[in-house]
Amino acid sequence: MKTPKKWYLSRFAYFFEGEDGESIILYHSLKIRMVFLTKTIVQNIRLFHSGLTITDFLKKIPDNKKQEYRELIKQLKRIDFLICDQNEDLEALDFIVKNAPKPYPHILYLMVADDCNLACTYCFESMNCLAKKNLPDKKETLMSTEVAEKAIKRYSELIKKDPRLFNREKRIIFYGGEPLLNFQTIKFSLEMIKRYQAFGLLPKNTKLTIISNGTLLTEEMAKIIKRHKIDISISLDGPKEQSAARIFPNGKEAFSSIIRGLDICKRLGLKTSISCTITDKNIDDCQKIIDFIIDNNIKAVGFNMMLGKTSYDYADKAADFIIKAHQRFKENDVWEDRMSRKVEAFFKAKLLLFDCAAAGGHQLVVSPEGSFGICHGFFSDRKYFSGDVDDTSYNPLDTDIFKEWNKRTPLNMSACRDCPGLGICGGGCLMNAEKEYGSIWKKDERFCVHCLKTLEYLLWDTYYSNTY
Ligand code: SF4
Ligand code: SF4
Repeated sequence: MKTPKKWYLSRFAYFFEGEDGESIILYHSLKIRMVFLTKTIVQNIRLFHSGLTITDFLKKIPDNKKQEYRELIKQLKRIDFLICDQNEDLEALDFIVKNAPKPYPHILYLMVADDCNLACTYCFESMNCLAKKNLPDKKETLMSTEVAEKAIKRYSELIKKDPRLFNREKRIIFYGGEPLLNFQTIKFSLEMIKRYQAFGLLPKNTKLTIISNGTLLTEEMAKIIKRHKIDISISLDGPKEQSAARIFPNGKEAFSSIIRGLDICKRLGLKTSISCTITDKNIDDCQKIIDFIIDNNIKAVGFNMMLGKTSYDYADKAADFIIKAHQRFKENDVWEDRMSRKVEAFFKAKLLLFDCAAAGGHQLVVSPEGSFGICHGFFSDRKYFSGDVDDTSYNPLDTDIFKEWNKRTPLNMSACRDCPGLGICGGGCLMNAEKEYGSIWKKDERFCVHCLKTLEYLLWDTYYSNTY
């Protein structure tokens, strides 16, 4: 006779206890699925921690409850909360890691200007601009049209190498420094991109974005931007007082100039979003910033947390800030990027392997002098930059850099495997992990706070709104 199988609770199963002390959510961090339970039921389900046959389990359950538990067990087996081989969990995880998409640049960053006309107090670019002076050989500050031409050509060749992925949406982003310092190269690139699309050398659905501080935007530029259907993302941290970190090098506030740029975008109907940094100065003014965004009819926002080894208090408040904004934005039809990635992973039960395209090796950055990088955050010392647009035999995707970053997902980090945030995390910013904690393989700890608070919010919001 066959020995009955023992069943175990998955290592990815977590119990979240509600404030009422009675409601409990059982959540599977890898499957991103949940079951709502009560305290009494959970006491029984916990018996599976050390392994139990179903027959032995049901012996412990009163007769009038047996059927209810049989149904529940069926459900728990189906979602892999209960497994009969304890290796199953890690095998499932390894399978996902092994089958993760290979490096492939769906995004191209053209760093058209390694300089900025602002000197925002928290910006890594201002560090870059200073650090640039210490580079071993003098680098170009502005990308020439020749380098842009070669970069777009090389990008086209690289993405063509995989015909299956070629027609997927691509994005070309003009960034810096401040890209509008080099509008000539942007204009040149736009014409070239149009030609490449017409000849099938770039996919038709290649989206274009400029990330700018908006202060240098003129009507003439805006008309060109509109003609080429480019999205523009303007860095602005809310009303004047809350945007105080945005200043010119002489210390003068930049707010009025940014608003002037934003007004041009509005007047000409450009697709505009704002990139808003939550600083230690504006973090307590969440409501004012949210009101400002809604009142100004801004329909897309990306929140940035401050870089560096921030305090727990900052990370905690920033996480609450983003959640509060998400709640208001939902009612006002505003898209917020950071939260939306987690919301999508959560509700579609779709693992978020990477929280940015550099992790995973899914973006390519080209510096003004034409070398290939994976993350613009390392612009200052050109770490993780290699090769050159002139070398047609060079494939940055084949380098150890891209191969290593491709693997850097929380699912592949022992420190993350037993974290409930695993499935919706994506792993934060690798640059911050390296600069503050010594390696891209370390946790970006300020981000963990955001991830775990977001998970709790999503779980209980779903529970109380009865939408699961
Ligand atoms: S690693 Fe950090 S700085 Fe680099 S692209 Fe990702 S989020 Fe941005
Ligand atoms: S990075 Fe932090 S939040 Fe994300 S899975 Fe790892 S430990 Fe959890």
